[in-house]
Parts: sequence; structure tokens; C-alpha cells
Amino acid sequence: MSSGGPTLPQERRIVTAIPGPKSQALHARRTAAVASGVGSVLPVYVVAAGGGVVVDVDGNSLIDLASGIAVTSVGNAAPEVVSRVVEQVAAFTHTCFMVAPYEGYVEVCEQLAELTPGTHPKKAALFNSGAEAVENAVKIARVHTGRDAVVVVDHAYHGRTNLTMAMTAKNMPYKQGFGPFAGEVYRAPVSYPFRDGLSGPEAAARTIDVIDKQVGASNVACIVIEPVLGEGGFIVPAPGYLAALAAYAQSEGIVFVADEIQSGMCRTGAWFASDHEGVVPDLVTVAKGVAGGLPLAAVVGRAEMMDAVHAGGLGGTYGGNPVACAAALGAIATMKDLDLNGRAREIETLLVGRLNALAADFPAIGEVRGRGAMVAIEIVEPGTTKPDPALAGRLSAGCHQAGVLTLTCGTYGNILRFLPPLVAPDALLHEAMDVLAEVTSGQA
Ligand SMILES: *Cc1c(COP(=O)(O)O)cnc(C)c1O
Repeated sequence: MSSGGPTLPQERRIVTAIPGPKSQALHARRTAAVASGVGSVLPVYVVAAGGGVVVDVDGNSLIDLASGIAVTSVGNAAPEVVSRVVEQVAAFTHTCFMVAPYEGYVEVCEQLAELTPGTHPKKAALFNSGAEAVENAVKIARVHTGRDAVVVVDHAYHGRTNLTMAMTAKNMPYKQGFGPFAGEVYRAPVSYPFRDGLSGPEAAARTIDVIDKQVGASNVACIVIEPVLGEGGFIVPAPGYLAALAAYAQSEGIVFVADEIQSGMCRTGAWFASDHEGVVPDLVTVAKGVAGGLPLAAVVGRAEMMDAVHAGGLGGTYGGNPVACAAALGAIATMKDLDLNGRAREIETLLVGRLNALAADFPAIGEVRGRGAMVAIEIVEPGTTKPDPALAGRLSAGCHQAGVLTLTCGTYGNILRFLPPLVAPDALLHEAMDVLAEVTSGQA
């Protein structure tokens, strides 16, 4: 597989402590200048990234299992993204689509209408961030239905703006001290097979019961759910759960919104994770992987719902910026040219195979799960389902010290997640798994 990005050697190379002296010097400057509420998982300061590696100012080359949180699926500085961005930035950087429009915006909407699940007539609108897309999906659902209530689930993550904080489940660090939150947001249980042991239909019945009894279906504008829950712990709902929830929504006139911001655009081995379950959402939110690292987000959905909003009711100064649209068209072309859905499925086979082998020797791995190149291990006290976030943190830190950029997640902070760029070569992924095996044996 060819690497995306510049011709960086696809290797792990550690030449200083992590972080090294130049990163530490930059970190001192950062600490004085940048608000401390903005964190960094690993304060190595980056000078280049491409394929499956991130290179820091000290000359260390780290294996990237983060993709900037599932963003650089086509690689960092992917050639098709770079060339289209360079051409666009030299032509014009901004007019505001609401002032004077341009073709790139229209083409991104056309492409997303084609790639999202279902063959019904669709339309799209573009925004800057995932949270902004989620907010706009709620606006559209409320106007379309004339109802107020928004239903979300346990372990959900939908963003950091006021409405999306209300929709996000986890208090620390996302919500603590930031209230009061937006009203008319209701939370229902989700399917979490490792913890509830319920079948998809059983878990859906439990969710629906809460909606019916505590909210009332006729008050609900939308149900918003991640088809694979991301920050909440890479939870894959049991088979049939999403379909049962979508069918309930349809029967009650509720807009079913799939938040595919993390799971969409090839990440799970399909254009959208809903595809794995044969679910056709009414609205889909898209961001992260869609534009090869530039900020772009979208709401894509049924034309009659999207068009429910009055003229001028949707938009924003930068939404669908022409440079970000050029990047998205380059990223989508790359996904098609390199068959990154197929590649994500290959990565799943490689990572899940290696992680299952590791789990056999390391009983703190309670479960290996995920879809495509969105894979995780849940770390627990052996033989129980009791979360062990301290051990997950030590494993992640051990990987960092050895030059593998990993992330944790989960409501209990006990999930180690793996999100490599889809263009990362097999050899690097195997090496990252070798490192993880070594780190776990040091903790056994
Ligand atoms: C990251 C994420 C968001 C928020 O996106 P931002 O671009 O950070 O605002 C919303 N939903 C899901 C599922 C996400 O993973």
C-alpha cells in the first residue's frame, strides 16, 4: 500500500526521550501562552506527518494510531488533498457561500448525498465542526417535526458546544462547571453488549421503553446516536439494535439521526457504519475524516427534511469554506482510488487478530471490539467487568514512551483505542502491536 502524504520514511525511530528537549522547550512556551484547559495527549511537537507516522521537532518518528482522532484517514498531507488545496487557496480562499457561492460546495453535497446510506432524494448543508453539524441536525429535526425533545443515549459524545454538551454523556472533562446546559435533552440506555449482555432487540426495547415512559414519543423531534459509539468507548451495539430503534423512530414520526462524525467516511470499512446494520438514517452528521484534516462538517439527509428550514435559517460565515471543500473532494477521491473501505477491513483483520492473541495472555483485556480501523480493547480487573482506567493509562503511556501514539477513551476511561490512518502500511501496524505486547508484558 502506498503511503499518503510526503515521502516520509514509514518507520518508528526514537532518538530522544519522549518528549525530547526541543518539544520540552516548546511546551514551556505553550504553557505560558496557551490556556491550560486545552490539553494534549502527548506533547511532542509535530513538524511533519504522513502515511502512518508523525515526526516531531526532535527527529522522533512515531507510529500514528490516532489519526488526529479519526481525521487523517487518507493520511496526513495526502497528495490529492494537497494538490487540490494548493490550487484552491491560490484561486480564492473565501467568499462565504451565503454571499457568493462556488462549485466545490455543491460538489461536496452531491458526493455526500451519493455516499450516505439510502437511495432516496437527499440534500446537504456544510459547517465547520462536528458539534456544529450536530446542532444543525437538531435544528432541522425540530423544524421538520414541530417538536422539541432530543433523545440521546448513555456513553454518547456529540461535542462541546452548549447544546452538544447537553447531549454528551460524560461529565469530566466535557461538562464539569460549564452548565447550565440546553434543555429538552433526554438520555436513554444504549446497547453495550460487554456490560449488559442484551440482544439488539432486547436493548432496543429497553431504550424505547424509557423514551415512551419518560419523554413521550409524540414530543420527540429526533433520536441522535453514534452507530459505533466513539469517545464513550468504541461500543458496537448488538446486531439489530440500531435497526429496531430506527424502525421505532419511523413509526413515531421521529427523525433518526446517525452521528457518523467519527465512524463515517471509510473508518469502519464501509462509507458509513450504519451500512453494516442495513440502517438508513433520516439525517447523517459527517465531519472528522471527510476532508483529510481540514475543518469541514455536514448534515446530509432526506431532501424533504433538509428543506423544512426557511431560507436563511442554516449557514455560517465559514461553513463549506472553498479550501476545506477542495480538501474533501481530494479526500473522497483518495478513498475511492485506494479502496479505503477495503483497506479498513484489512486493518480490522490485522488488529483484531493481534489483539485477540494478546488478550489470551493478558486477562485484563476484557474485550476486543470495533469495526474496520476503529478498534479498541476494554481494560478491566481480570475475570470481572470492573473498569481499570489506571492500567489503561499506563498501557497508553508505555506505548507513547516506545513511540506509538495511542489514545484512551470510554466513560470509565478504561478503553485503549486504535485509529490508524487507513494508508498506514501493515508493517507499521504489526510493529505497533509488537510494542503493545511488550508494554502489556511489562504490566502483567
Ligand atoms: C468528534 C465528534 C463530535 C464533535 O466534533 P468536533 O469537530 O470536535 O466538534 C461529534 N460527534 C462525534 C461522534 C464525534 O466523534
